[in-house]
Amino acid sequence: MKRETALSLDTLAVHGGSPFDPLTGAVCVPIYQSSTFRHPGLGESTGFDYSRGTNPTRTELEKTLARLEGGSYGLAFSSGMGAISAFIKLFKPGDHILVSEDLYGGTYRLFSEFYQQYGFSFSWIDTSDVDKLKAAMRDETKAVFIETPSNPMMKVTDIRLAAELIHRQGGILAVDNTFLSPYFQNPLSLGADLVVHSGTKYLGGHNDTLSGFLVHSRDDLEERLRNIQKSEGASLSPFDSWLTLRGIKTLALRMERHEQNGRSAAEFLRGHERVEKVFYTGFEDHPQYRLSQSQARGHGGMVSFYLKDPADVPIILRSVSLILFAESLGGVESLITYPLVQTHSAIPEEMRIAAGVNHRLMRLSVGIEKAGDIIADLDAALEQCKKRVPPDGSKL
Ligand SMILES: *Cc1c(COP(=O)(O)O)cnc(C)c1O
Repeated sequence: MKRETALSLDTLAVHGGSPFDPLTGAVCVPIYQSSTFRHPGLGESTGFDYSRGTNPTRTELEKTLARLEGGSYGLAFSSGMGAISAFIKLFKPGDHILVSEDLYGGTYRLFSEFYQQYGFSFSWIDTSDVDKLKAAMRDETKAVFIETPSNPMMKVTDIRLAAELIHRQGGILAVDNTFLSPYFQNPLSLGADLVVHSGTKYLGGHNDTLSGFLVHSRDDLEERLRNIQKSEGASLSPFDSWLTLRGIKTLALRMERHEQNGRSAAEFLRGHERVEKVFYTGFEDHPQYRLSQSQARGHGGMVSFYLKDPADVPIILRSVSLILFAESLGGVESLITYPLVQTHSAIPEEMRIAAGVNHRLMRLSVGIEKAGDIIADLDAALEQCKKRVPPDGSKL
């Protein structure tokens, strides 16, 4: 996985798009909190006109994202969903798009509740299965949209192969790279056309701001995407751009710690008697372990698991104290969710269950606290399950 630039990702994360503000020398790019910019004269521009289109703080962040993903262009949106909404506007009614069946519930909702009614057609498939991917391809298939590792089942899709398949018919491969962040995976270098991020997660990293990104190197798409961003108005604000830039400076440190802690938590859970199965791409017996090793540099901090007894779910959610029962992921604080009723509630039950998102599945976003403290909290919560008084589950 060769990177275009000689600087390592750790360094690029700290120094962003430009090493300092060219106007003042400020080490951190200022928050250009201005909606509009003066024109020097008729037909003249500083490159900035109106902040919905371009803003210097946002431009700095967009350049940073492009560099981190090894792309030529970055576009910042007010949320991950804002970025995905922009992506989908590259297509038109009649176009068919193949989508991973196991993905963020909000993406499913956007495509199925909104774009389907405008005449777009989607097929939801297990993109980690090459044969299914090949079989689902139609003449009118214009794009493949994948999450890898997938959310929440941690299935890995072969990015190189998906790119090859869709490129044969001139389509686009978009990869939602939120789970691994550019620190661990760079889909563009594997043949993807577009990288999608919810910057709300690892990039921002502090559970304090929403943001979203598209990154790419396609000169033929850049103008259209900029136009969509400017026209739709879901551009990231100067302040949130600044917060995200601030978060990115420590991306390398945080990702290393998330990964170490993720592995510790996964190993602890795997050895626990109340846990049936742990989904974590860093285990050698994960079905796509070798594929994961071949396209990513790490496994991140996301761990899903099946409990043996679904009655343990409410006890765990009530008993954890350091780990917070809250949606979202990728921040410094460890969070636990119950995908069935939270992140994936928009997906029809039949499809959820078929994908493995059942009533025994929990998802952990392992933060950067001390690993021992996270494990002690999980252990104590699981211990509460053993103590449960009425086994009928009625009061749980
Ligand atoms: C959270 C998330 C999104 C949506 O991003 P928002 O910033 O919440 O709009 C998209 N994809 C994945 C994988 C996510 O985790």
